Amino acid sequence: MSRFLNNKYIDLEAYTPGEQPTDMKYIKLNTNESPYPPSRETIEAISYDEGSRLNLYPDPTCGVLKEALAKRYGLNSENVFVSNGSDDILNFSFMAFAGGREKAVFPDVTYGFYEVFCKLHHVDFIKVPLCEDFTICIDDYTKNSSMVVIANPNAPTGILLSLTEIEKIVSSNFNHVVVIDEAYIDFGGESAVSLVKKYDNLLVVQTYSKSRSLAGARLGYAFGCKELILDLEKIKYSTNPYSINRLTLNAGISSINSDDYYVANCKQIIKTRDFTKKALEELGFYVTDSYANFLFAKKDGVDGGWLYKQLRKNGVLVRHFTADRIKDFNRITIGTPEHMKKLIEITKSIVNS
Ligand SMILES: *Cc1c(COP(=O)(O)O)cnc(C)c1O
Repeated sequence: MSRFLNNKYIDLEAYTPGEQPTDMKYIKLNTNESPYPPSRETIEAISYDEGSRLNLYPDPTCGVLKEALAKRYGLNSENVFVSNGSDDILNFSFMAFAGGREKAVFPDVTYGFYEVFCKLHHVDFIKVPLCEDFTICIDDYTKNSSMVVIANPNAPTGILLSLTEIEKIVSSNFNHVVVIDEAYIDFGGESAVSLVKKYDNLLVVQTYSKSRSLAGARLGYAFGCKELILDLEKIKYSTNPYSINRLTLNAGISSINSDDYYVANCKQIIKTRDFTKKALEELGFYVTDSYANFLFAKKDGVDGGWLYKQLRKNGVLVRHFTADRIKDFNRITIGTPEHMKKLIEITKSIVNS
């Protein structure tokens, strides 16, 4: 820390992203990326022609991309916000819709970035414990007077709320924004996008990083009523109007055009998830009922941190969290079927030794 850092950031603890090591080649199951490359069309959209226009700023309104997303999800352009990854959008949401008297409420076990954003923006927050079995009890979110932030499916548990449950939370928080973070919704859940026309307090956030194989491009999007979107635009235009670069813009538009490819990949990942879950259960693991592109698993008598290290030694990277309630677990991204067969084989030899 320099002696110049603003006092208000001295105690700020930054988010720790999953490791991206370069020391050797790992089977990388630690950051929930897609194991499949973007579609051919998407790669080709990052064209030489566009590259040769990088001397020019990109379109700050992202008009064509918004149009494509609006059409794909049955809304209007004015209901769509896009920015540099959904983390960017979540950050803007905490800035725009919480602070002062407006607290934020979210589960104790969820995406770690929510707490970081609260601390960054000095937003008071309430962490509501998940039930014993890691499910969200929706009654906990119907009587607060705070902005509500729910990842659905939740991370790192993968557990899904139904659309009916989401609607209960949204409708009972009439005077507060409800942010539904749907980073993993394409792996078997039902999106709340259909509720956007009905509720002016709902913001649905999605990302290209997981189901659309574009984590490296940095692109997130959100749906809400026109006024919520204008509020987010205000924040974006007050920080970085050009937050999406030309190459990413083109990739994002093209990805919508090759939707079939991504839908097929998600189906494959769901299939792979199901057989991996069964195989882990056969090895004696307890595995949560995940609707995401990862599993969350523990085995009695096996220390979570130890297993993580053993897997790493054997060339498999998974994610281990040290928070008390979940330290026995590891979060395992669903890779290709070959990756997962390898994972199971190596896990088997570790737990049997
Ligand atoms: C991965 C993830 C994000 C962030 O995605 P980006 O669009 O890559 O910034 C947001 N929320 C959750 C729950 C995630 O797991």
